[in-house]
Amino acid sequence: MKIPDALTGAIRQAQSVLLVAHVSPDGDALGSSLALARALRGMGKSVSILDKDAVPRIYRFLPGWEAVSAELPDVSGGEPDALVLLDCGELERTGFKSLPGRVKLVVDHHLTERSYGDVRWVLPTVSSTGEMVYNLIRALGAEIDAKTALCLYTAIFTDTGGFRYSSSTPSSFRAAADLVELGVKPWSITENVYESISPARMRLMGMAINGIRFHDDVAVIVVTHDMYRETGTTDEDTENFANLARSIQGVEVAVFIRQTGPESFKVSMRSKGRVNVAAIAETIRGGGHHNAAGGKMDGTLAEVEERIVVALKNARRDSQS
Ligand code: AMP
Ligand code: MN
Ligand code: MN
Repeated sequence: MKIPDALTGAIRQAQSVLLVAHVSPDGDALGSSLALARALRGMGKSVSILDKDAVPRIYRFLPGWEAVSAELPDVSGGEPDALVLLDCGELERTGFKSLPGRVKLVVDHHLTERSYGDVRWVLPTVSSTGEMVYNLIRALGAEIDAKTALCLYTAIFTDTGGFRYSSSTPSSFRAAADLVELGVKPWSITENVYESISPARMRLMGMAINGIRFHDDVAVIVVTHDMYRETGTTDEDTENFANLARSIQGVEVAVFIRQTGPESFKVSMRSKGRVNVAAIAETIRGGGHHNAAGGKMDGTLAEVEERIVVALKNARRDSQS
C-alpha cells in the first residue's frame, strides 16, 4: 500500500496530534482512532481523540474508548501540530464547524470526492480505514501491541461485515492474519459485535422486519421514534438494519429510513453490487461507498420513501440506457 511521504512525514514531525472520526461512529471509525492513538502514544506523542457522538455501547469493549471526547480540546496553549481525520474526508461528517491543527491530514476510504485537508490519503478500494491505519502504523515503524491489534481487527472486521464483502482483499486477510498472530481472539470480537443483541433491540428488529415494504427489488425498512418508544431503544440499536433488509433473496438494494426529527430522516442504502448507491447518496446530502452509502432527507415518511424509491429507479433506468 503506497502511503504518501507527506503523510508519514507530517505525523513523524508532530508532537501533539488530534484524531477525529465521523458522527455516529462505527467500528471502523472507533477502531482506527483508538489504534492510531495507541501507536502514536507509543512513539511518545500526545494524542487526543474526538468524536461528536458518544461511543455506542456495543463498542465499549474497545480498549481506551473512555478517552474518546465529545468536546473540542482546549487550544489556548496552541493548536495541535497535526489533525488527522479518520474514516471521513470532510469537516461536515465530523459534526464540528472547524477543527484545530497546524497541518490537516485525511485518512479515509470513501468514494465521495472531497477537498478538505493539506494531505489526503483516500483509497476507496480498501476495505476499511482500519486496514489503512494498520499499514500506516507499520510504515511509521510503531508498535502494534495486543490492544492496538484488537482495535484494528475490529475496524476491518466490522467494515467488511465479518470479512464477507467484496472489499475483503488478500491485503485485508493478511492484515487480519497478522493481527490474530499479535493476540486477537476473533470469536471474542464476533461475540461483542454481532452476538450481544439486547432483548429490546431484538424486539425493535422484529418490528422493523415485520414492516419491510417491497418496491420490485428494492426493500425499505423503517424505524420511527414511536418504535423506539414502544421497545425502549435508541438510534444506536439500529446498526446493521440496512444490511438485514439487503439479505433478502431477490432484493438488489435495501433502504433503511430512520427518523431523526418530526419530518427528518437518515437514509442508509445497501446494494448487492449492481447499483452504485454512493451516487444516489450524493443527491441527498450524503456520500459513501458503491455498496453502502447514506444521506439525509426531510418530509413526511411517505414522501421520503417515495422520493428515494423513485431516485433509485431513475438511477437504474439511466444506467441501463
Ligand atoms: P450508513 O448507512 O450510515 O451505515 O453509512 C454507509 C456508508 O455511507 C458509510 O461508509 C458512511 O460513512 C457513509 N455515509 C453515511 N451517511 C453519510 C452522510 N450523511 N454523508 C457522507 N457519507 C455518509
Ligand atoms: Mn465509518
Ligand atoms: Mn470505514
